[in-house]
Amino acid sequence: MARDRVYLDWNATTPLRPEARAAMLAAWDLAGNPSSVHAEGRQARRLVEDARHLVATAVSGDSRNVIFTSGGTEANVLALTPGLFRKPGAPAGRLIVSAVEHASVLSGGRFADDAIEVLGVGRDGVVDPEQLRAMLATGGPALVSVMLANNETGALQPVAAIADIVHQAGGLLHVDAVQALGKIPIDIKALRADLLTVSAHKIGGPKGAGALVLADGVSGLDALLRGGGQELGRRAGTENVAGIAGFGAAVKAAITSLSEMQRIAGLRQQLEIGLRQIRGTVVFSEGVARLPNTILFGAAGLRAETAVIGFDLEGIAVSSGSACSSGKVQPSHVLEAMGYGPEVTKSAVRLSLGWSSTETDVNRCLEAWRKLSSTLLKHSDETLLERF
Ligand code: PLP
Repeated sequence: MARDRVYLDWNATTPLRPEARAAMLAAWDLAGNPSSVHAEGRQARRLVEDARHLVATAVSGDSRNVIFTSGGTEANVLALTPGLFRKPGAPAGRLIVSAVEHASVLSGGRFADDAIEVLGVGRDGVVDPEQLRAMLATGGPALVSVMLANNETGALQPVAAIADIVHQAGGLLHVDAVQALGKIPIDIKALRADLLTVSAHKIGGPKGAGALVLADGVSGLDALLRGGGQELGRRAGTENVAGIAGFGAAVKAAITSLSEMQRIAGLRQQLEIGLRQIRGTVVFSEGVARLPNTILFGAAGLRAETAVIGFDLEGIAVSSGSACSSGKVQPSHVLEAMGYGPEVTKSAVRLSLGWSSTETDVNRCLEAWRKLSSTLLKHSDETLLERF
């Protein structure tokens, strides 16, 4: 990254940690296939199993229950399997997903479209467990998918409370913890999650590696990729040894330095206070528990894509809350679910910090927004401002 650039898009992806780079370089120099019984194969197997242990430990799970995948998206789709159960005879036949999930969960995995139900959120972006209880009162056991932390607002969901409601109704809970890993402590048992998704590239690991972690006793998972018996038959294909080794090294470094998030939270606070002082700027989900590194803000009349380009020209990488993979700004489905209208859903800009963020980054960002907002919002409609 160029030295004069400020990178504030850590929720999109993170720079590779030196530990992950070193682990990957070492893995690339190994010749063996982890399924081979000879010494070279066993060496590669060792890397995969060491990483599996590190990923399991990071979420207080069990190594046997870690399935390596190509990333968070694949883990989410793998998790959303009709027919999952804890007690034979009570398979989850319906899927309930929160309205603010990542697209890979909203797509419903392998559930038929008409089996998918959507759980709404309040103006603060948080689901109401009682609404879920009402949905589960009829219709039979469900697989429910609610993320631990939202990628746009950073809002945390009351996952453990949700898990109790889901289990009382005989269902299972999948938790997308992609954004939470490395930012807040995660314990699959304390969350009472049945399936949990994590991804390497949000914590300083490589892109293209992730995992689905199961709780003990979850059965009925239907492999997406069938063929060889890798990952105990749950994900066929020769393992991405270097990616997995990089994931293991990154997760170890992220968990070891979790306390660094206190410093990040302080910077985020400074940034947020500064933003609020700039006329017209509002911060979404500001009143609820959030990730320590994330701010989603907007301003009436602002076009997020114009702001993102403006920031970029000032040397600062931020993202629109709602950029899709083509980079085009769509109305944010998260803000839509929170009840905001079109003038707001296309205005949101996300700032996300990470381990190398500094006070200088915060000050440069505030300076840039002061400058940009004074030009971009010059003709903004005052009545819209009030409605925000
Ligand atoms: N879930 C959430 C909450 C995410 O933010 C992302 C990535 O942006 C994913 C899942 C997908 O992860 P991956 O990029 O590893 O496929």
